[in-house]
Amino acid sequence: MIDNHGRKIHYARISITDRCNLRCKYCMPEEGVTKKECGEILRVEEFVSIAKVLIELGIDKIRLTGGEPLVRKGLLDLTEQIGRLPGLKDFSLTTNGILLPLYAQRLKETGIRRINISMDTLDSEKYREITRGGVLGQVFMGLETALDLGFDQVKLNTVLIKGFNENEIRDFVMMTMDRPIDVRFIELMPFEGQQEFALGKYISGLEVLKCCPELVSEKSDDPSAPAKYYRIPGAKGRVGLIEPMSHLFCDQCNRIRITADGSALPCLHSRREFDLKPVLSDSSALQAAIVEAISAKPMTHRLCEGEFMERDMGKIGG
Ligand code: SAM
Ligand code: SF4
Repeated sequence: MIDNHGRKIHYARISITDRCNLRCKYCMPEEGVTKKECGEILRVEEFVSIAKVLIELGIDKIRLTGGEPLVRKGLLDLTEQIGRLPGLKDFSLTTNGILLPLYAQRLKETGIRRINISMDTLDSEKYREITRGGVLGQVFMGLETALDLGFDQVKLNTVLIKGFNENEIRDFVMMTMDRPIDVRFIELMPFEGQQEFALGKYISGLEVLKCCPELVSEKSDDPSAPAKYYRIPGAKGRVGLIEPMSHLFCDQCNRIRITADGSALPCLHSRREFDLKPVLSDSSALQAAIVEAISAKPMTHRLCEGEFMERDMGKIGG
């Protein structure tokens, strides 16, 4: 579908749970999400109905996210049902990696082709601190399992945090030398619930290029991808910069987001939401509601340091 600003919208990010087995300080409050009433979070078959309608509207790329998608009950049933929908060309998932050793094989068998794993530090103690209790060794096992299984693409997502991991930028970049992975640095985005943590911790993606001047810019294989890619000459993997704060990529935006509680969000940074729950059992009304959400996509967002977004990433689905 083409939106009101001439952009082809063909990518949906679906958050399948708002729960998580970690509590990253920039994403979730220490106590986790407020528990939703039974029935507020969509059921597996409801996500499948939405996926079908999205595909009818021209979406050919779906990424499952959360919260942490691997803690979602019925995950494999969901990936199996969505994975076999005709018309879906690209099916992927973003995870913190903790449960990947357990699920990676079945995820691949049920159609997941590409995996993004989040890791903000290579130091176990710092990982425990930023995630409020996570065990880094489990994420590394998840990463190695994903690489061994031969997914089409494995990416690492690293949020840049001042005073926390800027001294590790080079170590992350060096991971691309002998591994066929993309390491992507993401600029920290400010969410209302985490403002105390986020204030003053923003670093621009430019810092990565300053730390590693030998990085060479690469032509993108997907011009609508938010990351700009670079490579150390001879490296097996690439380095990506995702800069929602310093460089807008809205003119290339191709996506729509579905939250775990059944809202369509036209833009990560807009406060507008379209509740799909009342129309889930009527596919033409569901289609109309999604079309309305896509039509409401703004031309651009503007985020400044010191401004905060209302729904945090764990609730939106990053
Ligand atoms: N739990 C999964 C994970 O951590 O990969 C998927 C959901 S998480 C919300 C998706 C991505 O959003 C992660 O890579 C995470 O680092 C990123 N994220 C969360 N809060 C963020 C923030 N305030 N600024 C930038 N990225 C953020
Ligand atoms: Fe959980 Fe992912 Fe948010 Fe960390 S970033 S708290 S792993 S949802």
